[in-house]
Amino acid sequence: MIRSGVLLAPHPVRRSRCGVLPVNLDVGRLTDYEGLVEPSLRARVALAADRLRGLRVVHINATPFGGGVAEILRSLVPMMNDLGLEASWHVLDPDEAFFDVTKKLHNGLQGKPTSLSAREIERYWRHNELTAQQILELSGQPDVLVLHDAQVLPVAMFLPPTTQMVWHCHVDLTTPDETVRDLVEPLISLYSRCVVSMPEYASPGMPLDRVSVFPPAIDVFTAKNERLPIKLARSLVAGLGIDLSRPLITQVSRFDPWKDPWGVIDAYRLVKPEVPGLQLALVGALMAQDDPEGAGVLESVRQYAGDDPDIHVIADPEVATDRVVNALQRLSSAVLQKSLREGFGLTVSEAMWKSRPVIGGDCGGIRAQIRDGENGFLVSDVRACADRVLYLLSHPEEARRIGASGRETVRRRFLMPRLLADYLALFEEMLGVTSRDEEAVAIGEPDGNMMSAPTEAIRSSHIHEEVATP
Ligand code: UDP
Repeated sequence: MIRSGVLLAPHPVRRSRCGVLPVNLDVGRLTDYEGLVEPSLRARVALAADRLRGLRVVHINATPFGGGVAEILRSLVPMMNDLGLEASWHVLDPDEAFFDVTKKLHNGLQGKPTSLSAREIERYWRHNELTAQQILELSGQPDVLVLHDAQVLPVAMFLPPTTQMVWHCHVDLTTPDETVRDLVEPLISLYSRCVVSMPEYASPGMPLDRVSVFPPAIDVFTAKNERLPIKLARSLVAGLGIDLSRPLITQVSRFDPWKDPWGVIDAYRLVKPEVPGLQLALVGALMAQDDPEGAGVLESVRQYAGDDPDIHVIADPEVATDRVVNALQRLSSAVLQKSLREGFGLTVSEAMWKSRPVIGGDCGGIRAQIRDGENGFLVSDVRACADRVLYLLSHPEEARRIGASGRETVRRRFLMPRLLADYLALFEEMLGVTSRDEEAVAIGEPDGNMMSAPTEAIRSSHIHEEVATP
């Protein structure tokens, strides 16, 4: 079931520094998920794809690497193509000053008090105008254009109003800064549809009748998530200087204040006197071109970690490869995602899929993934985080139970075919091609996500599939 070889890393095809660049992709297939997701879900996706055959879909986002959106598109776009749609993915190619502005917007949307100068706003508009022109040049007028996050939000201003456009917002919108909210709301209203990951992100300024709520998903056949032979996993982690005879906790995240890497170090330090052998890995390869804060945060984290040989700060992209992230997630006694704001937090599902107990910040999309005490832990401060780490280290049976439950949660709710189903349903709705008969196949989950019921056979054949556990 594992795709042969490693997914090709997408790389932008370099042209001039303006507008957008296309991203080259490998193949992803719905059929890979046979036996892993319910047949009814696969059937629903296949039927919808049949009706949408040839649909020209263009996705645009800010970066080809280093964040959740890139991770999603790397699998979603090839899977759409495999199903007969004509999907493509382009990334922005602006100067650095543009991303200084958009990181401010990102932070403002997540609640940081923010002010923007007229010059910054002008820069934001201008690059999006260029982006819009280049989309038209490269793709003509696509049937559906999907713009991801705030960086590309103004594109809608510069395209013909007849263009069917979706704005997919991946960040935590529970407490946006007012200045930023006032700037983005008129732009949001230009879109045919908005997609957010949690119901509480749909703000009054959004056209509520045009908002869809569905969370992201992971692809379990990428180098990041595929099964790893235990020997290989161990040698990859040992190669980082980590001693596998001692416990390890890990957080994988961009170096971003919202991910609270300092809080993770504080929690580790609270546990360390009780568990002197404890090691911490903080992994965050500096790859996201849209995150100019990364280098500064990394420097601060390095200083904060000091000369503790048991804190491993791993930021070199050549070292923190997808396979190394995979191995670290698998071999950690617990995986942390101690975010203060989190749109969704793919890293949570990635670790849960690997049957690891996850301790997540009690915020945003992490709450959609973790049910506290059942399939992971939700924590609101450093003390609680340290307590949960200590609990998991001293209750291995419980850690195993939570890990297994987490994996099943991801299997049912957060795998790529479900995201495909949600996207295709959205396209059908926008284009007016939904078949009523088919809706009977889906069964509503209590949280409102449309998913089909798991079968016992599938459940039991996959829970224990993984090979590398500590
Ligand atoms: N990631 C990675 N290497 C890193 C840091 C992050 O591969 O050094 C990946 C991580 O595995 C996940 C994505 O980047 O797939 C981050 O997505 P998430 O939704 O957790 O956070 P975002 O960066 O989008 O805020």
